[in-house]
Amino acid sequence: MNHMNTTLSALPHFQHLHVETIPTQLSMVLERHKKELESLLQENKENYTWDNLLYPLEIMSDEWHKIIGPLAHLNGVHNIKPVREAYQKCLPILTEYSLLFAHSQPLYEAIKYIRNSTDFARLTTTRQKIINDDLLNFKLAGIALNTTEKARFKAIQEALSQTCNQFENHLLDATQAWKETVTDESMIAGIPDYIINEIKNKDHWIVTLEPPIYQAIMMYADHRTLREKIYQANITRASEISPSGTQWDNSRLMMDILKLRHEEAQLLGYANYAELSLAQKMADTPQQVFDFLNNLVQKAHQQAKNDFKALTLFAQEHLKLDTLEAWDIAYVSEKRRQAEYNISQNDFRPYLPHSIVLEGLFTIANKLYGMQFKKIDDIETWHPDVMFYEVTDADKHIRGYLYLDLFARPTKRGGAWMDNCLNRQYMADKTLQYPVAYLNCNFTKPANPGEDALLSHDEVVTLFHECGHTLHHILTQINDSSAGGIQGVEWDAVELPSQFFEHWCWQKEAIPLFSRHIKTGLPIPKEMLEKLLSAKNFQSALYLMRQLEFSLFDFHIHAEYDTQKDATFIQTVLNKIRQDISVIPIVSYNRFQHSFSHIFAGGYGAGYYSYLWAELLSSDAFVAFEKEGIFNPETGQRFLKNILEVGSSRPIIDSFIAFRGQKPTIDALLRDLGIKN
Ligand SMILES: [Zn+2]
Repeated sequence: MNHMNTTLSALPHFQHLHVETIPTQLSMVLERHKKELESLLQENKENYTWDNLLYPLEIMSDEWHKIIGPLAHLNGVHNIKPVREAYQKCLPILTEYSLLFAHSQPLYEAIKYIRNSTDFARLTTTRQKIINDDLLNFKLAGIALNTTEKARFKAIQEALSQTCNQFENHLLDATQAWKETVTDESMIAGIPDYIINEIKNKDHWIVTLEPPIYQAIMMYADHRTLREKIYQANITRASEISPSGTQWDNSRLMMDILKLRHEEAQLLGYANYAELSLAQKMADTPQQVFDFLNNLVQKAHQQAKNDFKALTLFAQEHLKLDTLEAWDIAYVSEKRRQAEYNISQNDFRPYLPHSIVLEGLFTIANKLYGMQFKKIDDIETWHPDVMFYEVTDADKHIRGYLYLDLFARPTKRGGAWMDNCLNRQYMADKTLQYPVAYLNCNFTKPANPGEDALLSHDEVVTLFHECGHTLHHILTQINDSSAGGIQGVEWDAVELPSQFFEHWCWQKEAIPLFSRHIKTGLPIPKEMLEKLLSAKNFQSALYLMRQLEFSLFDFHIHAEYDTQKDATFIQTVLNKIRQDISVIPIVSYNRFQHSFSHIFAGGYGAGYYSYLWAELLSSDAFVAFEKEGIFNPETGQRFLKNILEVGSSRPIIDSFIAFRGQKPTIDALLRDLGIKN
């Protein structure tokens, strides 16, 4: 039996995908699965077991994911009209499918039957955990609701899925719609060449809000009015005052989302959406989250004020700027960083060609966990730039595969993320399907084909972050897909492996492995390296306060919303938090919330604090490597075995203690964030 072929033949045929047929296919599978579920429940009545009920369900879920997965992925990386339309058509089918199981009273009773049977004790702890998690999922899917409430619950789910998707589409359209043609060469002064090449069009330049372009202009453009203009366009995206038009205004959608989520929470017996959100997280109560965040505010606030004062003084002394505006902060910060450390993110680019970075990243994963990465060429992908790798362990066993899509495109959504293509799962023919991941970034594509993209160190950190998620997904040893890799892991801990892996970007012993000058092949000079490391916590309190502002905003709106709140609610909460903790100037037209897709369109509603929460875990976990050696293979194996391989087969706190021998403390987090106590 060939597990490798099982996996490779299950990969999506991206070049031959007829996206417009997927909604119909999906509907047909939905109907078939309805019948299959019914007969499973009929045939095994009063004798339900893992093997006769839950295993077949895992296989059905795998089949379903193989149909919708590729389209959902294309919706993110190749968002052209037919893809978007097909995906939109699938949304109600997806909701119906999830409710088919989540709302099946007989299925709920059947799983309860297994839970209460004598067989339960004989199941692996992983399967026991899956069953317990399933029962909680049933509760959260409204199984206890009466018929009228159930119908309402279903309508809420459908409306939420449409509204959140619309929020994201508005944002994408609004981002693409804005363009500024620059004809005066003096306006592009200071912008690095690799961006100039990107935006040059014969005798003029076209500035857009594509993330690498936006960031480079905010950081480097000497022309203050250009910065102001692009800042304003970006911060008002998808709002009622966006300069590119108000047809993508997200204002109403945001209130709709809060209202729907609140109603959902109350239907399920929670006081608000924040409480509901915590039901499946590591944090137990909203108060615990507020305490965690407010504690950090207290520790960092004064240092952030000092940071900002120093920044203002610097601008007055060196740049003749009397007051700092919002569009000056990134620019002046970069100038100050250069003055203090005489170093810029761009200075590192020639030392960070993407192929060298990848080679180093794979070497590090090899040193820590014994993994080997091999590029495979003849795999169908959605774009010629996409690469495909096989990952094998020290015993030469295949562990999984990954698609690597590094570069920005107009049809690709912004940011960087990892998603699962296939899950580790024993198939019906007894072959093992290996996990396959999509790793997506938005780096600027090299000017000429075959050349290397020159990354900034920040971009390298992003790549390591996403690779941390990828390793979590593909190194899992759990063969029941519902508990493998990132599946079922508490949301506020899911960033543990990713933030943890970032630490190697900052280690003197590790940096030479992924950096070498593109022309000379020389390592980063010693003093440059020292500067990079000492600049790591440059203005870190300012950065932390920004994360805290986002986290508090997200948690407060979800904890405090009720139906009495009017359209001013969101802005009022945000203003109040800013008044309390913000140390930087905020312009009155700031509509950051309209593009905060993490919480309004992604899965981070009442969960943005998770980044800091997981950082608490990852900082503390890394202390073990500092003590025992950052490439200590035994420590690496201990992390692999206790955290990466186990998925959600047990609560994350148990995995953490198994690795670390103790609960995490806040000290390592404060130190890593550069907060001096
Ligand atoms: Zn992440």
